[in-house]
Amino acid sequence: MEKEPVNVPGTETVSRNFIEMAIDQDIKEGKTSQVCTRFPPEPNGYLHIGHAKSILLNYGLAQEYGGKFFLRFDDTNPTKEKTEYVESIVKDVEWLGAAYEGEVRFASNYFDQMYEAAVKLIKKGKAFVCDLTAEQIREYRGTLKEPGKNSPWRDRSVEENLRLFEEMKDGKYADGEKTLRAKIDMSSPNINMRDPVIYRVARMTHHNTGDKWCIYPMYDFAHPIEDAIEGISHSICTLEFEDHRPLYDWVVKELEYENPPRQIEFAKLYLTNVVTGKRYIKKLVEQGIVDGWDDPRLVTIAALRRRGYTPEAIRRFMELVGVSKGNSSVDYAMLDYCAREDLKLKKSRMMAVLHPLKLIIDNYPEGQVEYLDVPNNLENEELGSRKVPFGRELYIEQEDFMENPPKKYFRLFPGNEVRLMSAYFVTCTDIVKDEEGNVTEVHCTYDPETKSGSGFTGRKVKGTIHWVYAPTAVSAAVRLYENLVDESKGVYNEDGSVNINPNSLTVIEDAKLEPDLGKAESGDSFQFVRNGFFCVDSKDSQPGAPVFNRIVPLKSSFKLK
Ligand code: ATP
Ligand code: MG
Repeated sequence: MEKEPVNVPGTETVSRNFIEMAIDQDIKEGKTSQVCTRFPPEPNGYLHIGHAKSILLNYGLAQEYGGKFFLRFDDTNPTKEKTEYVESIVKDVEWLGAAYEGEVRFASNYFDQMYEAAVKLIKKGKAFVCDLTAEQIREYRGTLKEPGKNSPWRDRSVEENLRLFEEMKDGKYADGEKTLRAKIDMSSPNINMRDPVIYRVARMTHHNTGDKWCIYPMYDFAHPIEDAIEGISHSICTLEFEDHRPLYDWVVKELEYENPPRQIEFAKLYLTNVVTGKRYIKKLVEQGIVDGWDDPRLVTIAALRRRGYTPEAIRRFMELVGVSKGNSSVDYAMLDYCAREDLKLKKSRMMAVLHPLKLIIDNYPEGQVEYLDVPNNLENEELGSRKVPFGRELYIEQEDFMENPPKKYFRLFPGNEVRLMSAYFVTCTDIVKDEEGNVTEVHCTYDPETKSGSGFTGRKVKGTIHWVYAPTAVSAAVRLYENLVDESKGVYNEDGSVNINPNSLTVIEDAKLEPDLGKAESGDSFQFVRNGFFCVDSKDSQPGAPVFNRIVPLKSSFKLK
């Protein structure tokens, strides 16, 4: 197995990955004059984090070698393909910053050339029209232990094959009645080489070519042709295609392309505690278990964007993950780590109280409002400061007050003094409870001498808590997330359904936010003091009534080694 690259955070990659080494070699040997890569999605669903890896890998290689990167839809299989998916994929690739060369390309634009390529193979005696049914083809194929048997139609003349293939195209045969097969070797140890089907009859309307064709090329035949037509130098794909590479090479060789593309495989990216794989995500969407393809608990690119992850964070994550030849799962916490690191210096640190408790400063003049200067980011002065209203009635977090605190609790409790962030010291003097004994109000007195920024040094307090001025507080829904599945409890139930983590979504209906957050627009993100990074939901927010999604909490167990 190839060595994995060693990525040291904050430095350049210190060793080249196996793909780079292969490309270096091809350039050295004169096999490659210009590096050209592509991302070839099938438009049958939304892209997910795994695709982001492929996109950034292909785009990154093109950048690194001063080459080109294309976006090409692999739309040779019309049944599952939809225009909605095409549009979402283009948007996601652009959002990730992978600038593709020229127009978006479609494999279906090459159907004419693929047909010609098939004719060429027939003329070379390298393809034949076969009348076996799908089931018979399977029987004749043999097994891993047993060689296959030649089709009785294998020795048709070139003329007959040409005529029959044309008739297939002209709609003379029913779906499945005939196929075109490559003539390779029925006793090959590689089953993919046992006279694979390269064209089938199928009356299906295609999203791009409509009803023009009733025969469609198979993926293994179409893909190398698409690559060769576009001048792709390195066709990077995932490991499941390794066994198909001999067929890829066969197609390219028999069609005599001048600069044959080279296929190189790498391991798919998997993440812990989430659902990757379009098929599985699609099921969750169709069953209404999640709120569409962009439900923030998913790892589709649309979901990551809606949740508030940045392209920079995703790029950094991919750098840390590296490229490998062995399948493994990456800890989801690493993605969170990258998001946090990226947002830390970029976002303003705002005050938002998720579980509000009233705090009343009895000696603060009723009706008086002060506008306090609050720095936006203590680690990045460039973000400046803002004015935040302060007065007699505030909200604080319920967890910042305890009537009977344990030792080492430095927040508010009867008799204790704390700092209200960017404001004054307050001392708890009294509490009010409801009939059930819950604390509903905390009463305090404040010391005007202790105003933040005034240079007061008279005494120190151990706790600082955040707050929001009640009369101008903005009420908002805030959503907290955990991973969609908890792998330690099993990903699937007995009936095959996904075992959804019941805590994957918690909605706080009435959080209290400082007034500036009421003006936030869709997609804006912030740090909420102590509670994490949050992004305005793009689907459910109304003007003046934002809904916030938590991107990541501030702390995690993940440590970069
Ligand atoms: P899925 O299994 O999720 O449906 P797919 O491989 O069928 O994915 P395609 O649209 O065919 O999806 O893939 C486009 C490209 O993305 C291919 O080159 C594929 O190898 C790559 N790709 C898909 N999943 C991953 C992944 N988890 N990690 C890295 N690359 C991936
Ligand atoms: Mg696929």
